[in-house]
Amino acid sequence: MNLISDMQIPVRRAPHSRIHEVDWGNLELGQYNSDHMLVCDYSEGRWFGPEIMPFGPFSLLPTTLAFHYGQTIFEGMKAFRTADGRVHIFRPEKHYERWVRSAERLCMPVVPSEVFMEGMRRLVQLDREWAPGSTGSALYIRPFQIATDFRLKLKIAESYRFAIVCSPAGNYFSRPVRVKVEREYARAVKGGTGYAKCGGNYGASLFPTQMAKAEGYDQVLWTDGVSHQYIEESGMMNVFFVIDGVLVTPPLNDTTLDGVTRDSLLVLASAAGIPVEERSVSVDELREGLERGRVREAFGAGTAAVISPIWQIGIDGRDYTIPVSRDGGSIGPELKEALDSIRYGRTEDPYGWNFYV
Ligand SMILES: *Cc1c(COP(=O)(O)O)cnc(C)c1O
Repeated sequence: MNLISDMQIPVRRAPHSRIHEVDWGNLELGQYNSDHMLVCDYSEGRWFGPEIMPFGPFSLLPTTLAFHYGQTIFEGMKAFRTADGRVHIFRPEKHYERWVRSAERLCMPVVPSEVFMEGMRRLVQLDREWAPGSTGSALYIRPFQIATDFRLKLKIAESYRFAIVCSPAGNYFSRPVRVKVEREYARAVKGGTGYAKCGGNYGASLFPTQMAKAEGYDQVLWTDGVSHQYIEESGMMNVFFVIDGVLVTPPLNDTTLDGVTRDSLLVLASAAGIPVEERSVSVDELREGLERGRVREAFGAGTAAVISPIWQIGIDGRDYTIPVSRDGGSIGPELKEALDSIRYGRTEDPYGWNFYV
């Protein structure tokens, strides 16, 4: 990794830590922020020095472009505390690669990897007490970038703010969910921004999700935006099925987000000798597989919940239950355990995924 370890990052410390306010047993993501944040501004064609400072408000004019035209991107990753007390960030280089693709799609200057990686390392090191040690809990890290020109005319902004904030995340128990195969609305279309983690994608997904919730579902299972015939992903997670004993996930393209959890699970499944296929899954295949009991498990995969088992899938007004998924299934939990073992330092990290701060 290419780190400038002597890069100067001035630190203005918070006068008091707020960590004693946290109710660790009862933690919702984003409920609390750690004591510090990193801020780095861009203007006149260059990045200025990053700074770490107490977590607090930004002062922005109402005409700031990010408020109007959606030139905003973000990432989401986690820092874990291993059994021996050390703290690491899980696969930050892989998140940075995706960050670069998001920034390019939104015409934003790419913050140098030294600022992204070293800035995040210093911030997490400073706020490491906020990374709880119990299995399932972690410190969620949210890098983001917004266009900060203040003028209402739509054009590519010339000034930006990159920032990183952190939020402790509790043991996120993911109870099995009901999902609805979405046949009308689209999250992403070919040629659009589906592969980027940009603000607009998420704002646009709220309404269809709200409609699905009104019908009693927890989440939408997105299909392609043209034929609505091929499964893409679910909410803020990639999706996996176990069909005839094979772990199947839709392939990556410009409408699907390249999830780091997805990639990690594929690597771990192959290592465990589980047959895997990255291929298209049509709604017809899914329906038939559910009817004939060939779909034994279904789950979403993402940084927030790791694995979220799906116990029921609604297709065109009919609900199909996956009995095995209801008690967790077997492949999903096995992969989650393999991933957690690496993250919490219970086994070797043969892939070099843990980046110690
Ligand atoms: C962030 C995200 C994912 C999951 O990616 P991870 O890197 O595994 O957290 C999947 N789909 C969408 C739409 C996302 O925004």
